Amino acid sequence: MYKGSVTEEAREVLRAIELIQLGARMPVLEKELTLSRNRLIRLYRELKSASPPKGMLPFSADWYFTWLPNIHASLFYNIFLFLKDEAKCSRLDALTRAYRLYIEHCECAETERVLSFTRAWTLLRFFEGGLLALTRCTVCSGRFVRHARDAMKPATCCICQPPSRAGVTRAMLASRELAQGTQEASDAADAGTAADKSKSTSKRKAASPLSEISDAMRDTIAEVKRAVDPNRSARNGTIGGPASASSGKVPGNPFLPASVPA
Ligand SMILES: [Zn+2]
Repeated sequence: MYKGSVTEEAREVLRAIELIQLGARMPVLEKELTLSRNRLIRLYRELKSASPPKGMLPFSADWYFTWLPNIHASLFYNIFLFLKDEAKCSRLDALTRAYRLYIEHCECAETERVLSFTRAWTLLRFFEGGLLALTRCTVCSGRFVRHARDAMKPATCCICQPPSRAGVTRAMLASRELAQGTQEASDAADAGTAADKSKSTSKRKAASPLSEISDAMRDTIAEVKRAVDPNRSARNGTIGGPASASSGKVPGNPFLPASVPA
């Protein structure tokens, strides 16, 4: 039985519903809410029409250091910090709102949602535990997720300096080979010259999957910047607005928020 007030219990149930809808698992719900395990399981079954999945939550921080998860985690954590520190949201509120903003903009940019709610929550726990920290990129000055022990060492973020094979998946390689085969077949059919062939090869090289992905991510980040623009929030009047964020010295700064103090 819940021992608190009825209104507080109702709020807890609403929070639980929101967390379950976002994809929270049982250990997350039990950690964040005061409702009993049985009530949470019942809620979960009602909302998802299935029993909550069993098994452990991810416990390694290494996942956040690979290039694409690092970009998504940095984006999410910067939004979270902005909502918590600047918009003065509570921790749980900032977590759910930041995650909603994150999925909304992944959908807008038609980018895969790399960070699950569990990963987002675990990221927060790693930061709270002092395992992870934010470092300012030496190129774009955006703040990105790093191991706390390396936080003071100068470094470049995964957007400014992606690994050479970043964004190349098996499916992409297969489809590229297929497209290459088709292109060569059509080249042969057209009886094109050797010069034409070399031109089409260089064109294929230029349209690498990485450039497509990072363009999409840049668009997402720009969208999120506009969405959490402090000038649109009734609470804030003192923070640097879009002018300082977009026309400052670092126009390409990809991580949020530009106005949060270091
Ligand atoms: Zn950078």
